[in-house]
Amino acid sequence: MGNVTATAIPLILAFAGALAAAEPGTTRVARWKDDKAAAFVLMFDDSLPSHVKNVVPELAKRGFTATFYINPGTGHYAGQRQAWEKDIPAAGFELANHTLTHGGGATNADIAREIAACGEAIHASTPGQPWPRLVSWGQPGGIKKEKWPTTKDELAAMLAENHLVNRPDFGGRGAAIAFKTGPEMIAHVDKAVAKGAMECVIFHGVGGEWLSVPTAEFTALLDGLVARADQVWVTSHIPAHQYATERDGASVTVTGKDAKRLTLTLASSADPKWYDQPLTLVTTVPAGWTACTIDQGKRHAEATVKDGAVRYEALPGGEAIVIARK
Ligand SMILES: [Zn+2]
Repeated sequence: MGNVTATAIPLILAFAGALAAAEPGTTRVARWKDDKAAAFVLMFDDSLPSHVKNVVPELAKRGFTATFYINPGTGHYAGQRQAWEKDIPAAGFELANHTLTHGGGATNADIAREIAACGEAIHASTPGQPWPRLVSWGQPGGIKKEKWPTTKDELAAMLAENHLVNRPDFGGRGAAIAFKTGPEMIAHVDKAVAKGAMECVIFHGVGGEWLSVPTAEFTALLDGLVARADQVWVTSHIPAHQYATERDGASVTVTGKDAKRLTLTLASSADPKWYDQPLTLVTTVPAGWTACTIDQGKRHAEATVKDGAVRYEALPGGEAIVIARK
């Protein structure tokens, strides 16, 4: 700036200011809920006793949710029936389909029954939730070929029929295989933050049973997530999947604008029957506004203006969003 004259500087600043201040109503759909950089899902396979004893209390202590891939037809599930069928779903944890027995079957009809029966158990354990709804799917591993006759296409049809959403591959995400320590798992979280991605770690035993990691390594990951609370949305699989699908098909239209209010509509190509996760929006408001009310149908929120914009949640395909100066 050595050659800029004193009179030119105010002009340059004014120009920079005009560039920075977007038109009121300009709206960005946040990459993840609450404008976090990444979504992260803690996944637990095989409905193991150590999940009940070691995992759930540590998650609850930190206010984290998680996704549990259950096998309701196994003895270790039966040994903790009250936890899987009442306490864990009632506490807001997500139950996911890992088949009834984890044993596969001789025919496609057997596999279809394994999948449907696990779904029925999930339905029975979540009486307050709509059914059918999207449920996460984790294919059981370690099954001999003759006990899993289903081709990729046949499985895809079964998943579609049962509204099952396939999770990310186990490869590169398995605790005790891909990651042995808390710091290794935290590095996996930081990669997701750098990419703006949804990622997960898939656990089996924690401080017990098979493919086990020590509880201290697991809690090191949880504490790493607590330390990254402003960057990472720790959630369960279906909300993360819904958010991404709705976001990728979202569009915002400004339908009204005056000195006191902005009116917008949020649309998405995702079918609202299955995709009903609120999206986080960031909308520029007119200069001078310091706080707003945000209404969409029955939803009501208040927000303070930060950097000329308000952040709030809205449902795609819902009623008009009204942002009013407070
Ligand atoms: Zn399994």
